[in-house]
This record gives sequence, structure tokens and C-alpha cells, in this order.
Amino acid sequence: MTSRATAERLDRADPLAPARERFELPAGVVYLDGNSLGAMPAGTPAALDRTVRRQWRDHLIKGWTDDGWLDAPMRVGDRIGRLIGAAPGQTVTGDSTSVQLFNALTTAARLRPDRRILLSDGDGFPTDRYLAASVARMLGLELRQVPMAELPAALDAYGDEVGVVLGSPVDFRTGETHDVADLTARTHRAGAVTVWDLCHAAGALPLALDADGVDLAVGCSYKYLSGGPGAPAYLYVARRHHAAADQPLTGWLGHAAPFAMTPDYRPADSMARFRIGAPHILSLSALDAALDVFDDVSVADIRAKNTGLGRFFIECFDARLAGLGFELVTPRDDARRGSQVTLSHPDAARLMDQLAARGVIGDVRPPTLLRFGFNSLYVSYTDIHDAVTVLGDLAEANRRPHDRTAPAQRLIGETHVAQ
Ligand SMILES: *Cc1c(COP(=O)(O)O)cnc(C)c1O
Repeated sequence: MTSRATAERLDRADPLAPARERFELPAGVVYLDGNSLGAMPAGTPAALDRTVRRQWRDHLIKGWTDDGWLDAPMRVGDRIGRLIGAAPGQTVTGDSTSVQLFNALTTAARLRPDRRILLSDGDGFPTDRYLAASVARMLGLELRQVPMAELPAALDAYGDEVGVVLGSPVDFRTGETHDVADLTARTHRAGAVTVWDLCHAAGALPLALDADGVDLAVGCSYKYLSGGPGAPAYLYVARRHHAAADQPLTGWLGHAAPFAMTPDYRPADSMARFRIGAPHILSLSALDAALDVFDDVSVADIRAKNTGLGRFFIECFDARLAGLGFELVTPRDDARRGSQVTLSHPDAARLMDQLAARGVIGDVRPPTLLRFGFNSLYVSYTDIHDAVTVLGDLAEANRRPHDRTAPAQRLIGETHVAQ
């Protein structure tokens, strides 16, 4: 059952369908790239305008205190904390995921000064790999990169030499999920600490950082959280580590008394120690507004819907794309599939350009992967049906070299840069 009528019936039964009104999407676009850059929440422009005019323009420097700018990194961090299973006081926003990774990995390694191995996901996002390598070089550690699935075996093999394990709950290419609780428990049995990169999980999958005993975690807020381009990243540090956490970026706003302006650094004894420097108030206010969208929805409902969207995509794939050169890369098993479906095709880049010309936006992971992400708050079953139908039409037409069927009017620009 993969007809458009089926898709429409699924949309009518979808409890999250009304959430689409909370976003502004260009007309005629099926947006399946919200796992790279989330769509704009309808409340964002007004929130930015308020910050700029009513706060910055009218209050000037008093904004730091009167408008709560100084505490915004912790306040907004706690709002993200609710989505990742972190009790208040353990999540701070700021900088990019890359900077927070540097911070988290260094802090984690300093919690285990007698261990010489940094173990990380060999299939991880490039910035994670690059930063793990740099931190290892800087601290004189040995970096071992193995695929997520082999991390448990590596932990058994290197045992008490491992200080830090860096992993991701979702493979950004294939969309395969990994068990945070299980790897965290194994890491602890080996005496090491975990750093999790939540970029492709937060806002899409249930996370329970406190309950799972996670030590540190980082993530970005411009993907499923829709905080806007370059929105501040976040860092989670479990409370039990706060006193011992020797974080490398000893900025003045991490000081116990920043305005005492003392010559020596004395870290705040709370999560404020990770605030580093002046918060990005303009982008934080966009992120703050984006989080309003999540106020009355549960992550369980979000997960139920993206599981359904993924399953429907795969049913449409079986019905429409078989025999056209595609392979399904993402696991069929609901429990092992994140909020995306990845296909491989030898002609991936050309197909994605053609899709974009027809108003369907996904992204390409060279050389052969086509990636489609599902934000439960604004993607519909009808979107999935239409995207797969157009993809099938294009792949079929490409196989007929003399087909003169002109592609429909180009609705949007070039394929987007994607994270
Ligand atoms: C998107 C993404 C990042 C992005 O890092 P930035 O420094 O915020 O650009 C990092 N890690 C993973 C796993 C990602 O998916």
C-alpha cells in the first residue's frame, strides 16, 4: 500500500501533522534535508527582531543582566537538556560542535590522565575524526579509530589502556543507530569515560543521558532542532564530573567570579565553567525560539512518526525503485534505523540535482549515497510518497538516453552544502 491515497490517509491520522504550521517552508518544496539544516520556525523572525530592537537597541549593555543574556547559555542549554534526558544544570550552549568536541575530548582525557588510548568511531563525521586526532596529538595519546560496531571488541582488547571513547548514536551516512546505554556501560566497565556526539539524534530519537550514565556529550542545534544556520552547539557534562572537569578553554566567563577580574583563573563550580566567552545572543535567541516548537510535543511521538516515515519510505522504495539501480543502505529494522533513509546509486549526484530541480531536497554523500532526512514536525507521508515517485521517474528517464521530456520548472537553487 504505497499509493498517494494511503499517504494522505496516514497524514490524516498523524497527531504531529499540525506541527507543520509552526514552520515556514517555501511553496512547492519537499524538504528532506532538515537533518542538515532544519527549516525555519515561524516564530524565529519575530524573536530575532525582539532581541535586536527591544533588547540590544533599547537596553544596550543592561541586556547582559536585565534580559538574561549572561545566563542564556545555561537556560537554553536546559531546554535542550529536556530533549536529551539531561536534568537541569548540565547542558550549556555555545560555539560550534567542533569547538565543543575539542573541549569535551580534552576534558574527558584529563579525567583519565593515566590512560593512553583515545578510542573513536572510525566512521564518524569528519570533524569528529579530525578533532580526535588533534586532541590525541596535543595530549600525547594514541588514537584508535574503529567502526562503531567494533568498539566493544576494541574495549575488550585494549581494556585498561583506554581513557576516552567517542561515539555517535546515529551514523550520519547510513542512518544506522547504536545503543548509547550499552556502549556507555561497557566503557565504564573498562574504567573509561564516554563522549557522545548527538548531532543526528537530538530532536529525533529518545535520548536518556542521565539514565544511561553518559559522561560528556556534544551536539549541534541547527539540524533537527532548527536553531538556524550556525546556531550554537551544546555541551553536556554529567554533574558528577563538574568538580574535577579541567576544561581547556579557560575563558573569563567560565570563571567563578568573572566580574571580579582577578589575575588568576578559578573555574565556576557549576556548568557555568563551560561558558568560555561572551554568548552568541543573536543566534541563541533564534535557537530559543526554535525550541518553543518542542514545548508541547514528546520525543516519543517524534520518534514514532519518523519511524513510520522511514518505514513508508522503504515500502515506496520497494514498490517504485526496484530494478532502477538503487540499493537501500539504511537498516530495514525500525529499531536500528535513525530518522533518515540513505540509498546508494551510481548516478547519485546527478539524481540529487535533478530532484532539487523538481523541488525535492535531500543531499549527497559522495560518491554514491543519496540521503533523505525526516523531521517529524514538518515532513508528511505525502512528501515521502511524492519524493520517491519523482526519484523513480528521474531514474527511469535517465536510462532512456533520447528521452526529451524536459524536467519541470526549477524551483530552487543548487544542491545545498550539507552536514
Ligand atoms: C553536523 C555534525 C557536526 C557539525 O559540526 P559543526 O562544528 O557544528 O559544524 C559535527 N559532528 C557530527 C556528527 C555532525 O553530524
